Amino acid sequence: MSAPNKSYDPVEVETLKPEEIERMRDEALAAFAAADSLDALHEAKVAHTGPASPLALANREIGALPPHAKAEAGKRVGQARGAVNKGLAARQTELEAERDARVLVEEAVDVTLPYDRVPAGARHPLTTMMERVADVFVAMGYEVAEGPEVEAEWFNFDALNFLPDHPARQMQDTFFVRGPEGTEESGSGVVLRTHTSPVQARALLDRELPVYIVCPGRVFRTDELDATHTPVFHQIELLAVDEGLTMADLKGTLDHMVQALFGADMKTRLRPNYFPFTEPSAEMDMLCYVCKGESVGNPDRPCRTCSSEGWIELGGCGMVNPRVLTACGVDPEKYSGFAFGFGIERMLMFRHNVEDMRDMVEGDVRFTRPFGMEI
Ligand SMILES: [Zn+2]
Repeated sequence: MSAPNKSYDPVEVETLKPEEIERMRDEALAAFAAADSLDALHEAKVAHTGPASPLALANREIGALPPHAKAEAGKRVGQARGAVNKGLAARQTELEAERDARVLVEEAVDVTLPYDRVPAGARHPLTTMMERVADVFVAMGYEVAEGPEVEAEWFNFDALNFLPDHPARQMQDTFFVRGPEGTEESGSGVVLRTHTSPVQARALLDRELPVYIVCPGRVFRTDELDATHTPVFHQIELLAVDEGLTMADLKGTLDHMVQALFGADMKTRLRPNYFPFTEPSAEMDMLCYVCKGESVGNPDRPCRTCSSEGWIELGGCGMVNPRVLTACGVDPEKYSGFAFGFGIERMLMFRHNVEDMRDMVEGDVRFTRPFGMEI
């Protein structure tokens, strides 16, 4: 015969003696008190409250006790575990408060410390150059006008008196935009504008007379990128249409522009030329701003900027062709106008001795930085 208490093991009873339970409780509380960090406390928690802890093992032994001993042993173990959990929670709160106080000190940011300056970046010299030129005219009362880069062939050519067989209309010079439904490219009637001049026609159609506008912008031609050509470049264009304007007004305006950009002793000269949209037309040169013409016939003082010619070719200009005025609904008997335009890249090249146009499009900040950090 066997009874439940026959399997009673005196050795196991040892773990449930009051002094043993107290020892386990005190060891746990001492371990919590000794834990000096939340990690150490976590280890102590696993060791003293986890499933393999002495109190958990002791708790398991209660089931093996004779019935009369179970209640008392259970109460003892339960009280001890309660005290351990309370001690753990108290130490946890203490250590968390310590950690929070330490983080506030250690991770505080001193906003008065010096810092590494991050370069603010720079605008492209082409942009600043265009704005500098436009500013000269804005100061004279001109308005800045803009137009689309994808332009109707009519505005780019027809309105400006380019006849249908003008060579500029050929596909080797102009990017034609493919039309819908696979129509022939040259038949779409849409091009990437080859100059900023279509803005002139748009301005005359849109605005009340008189018109005084300056149009900086990007233009496109089918050139390969090399040291002196780029398929995308920038022009700035000027148009004035009013009653009684003459070539003298044009000349005075050009002189004022080069003086504002290159110095008070600058001047310009005009040489006859032909453009479809101006009549008469002229090529505009400005005095070389480096040698002021003194290198001409003076081998002792050669000038790289103007190749010792004394003048620098800047752009084209002239009186607006009456046909253009008529195409844009302006009465050429009453109004006259002048226009001129030039390339920004070219001006940047001779003004800053830039020898390779590719430097302007490759995006290397070492090229841009020497021009300053104008914003
Ligand atoms: Zn020169």
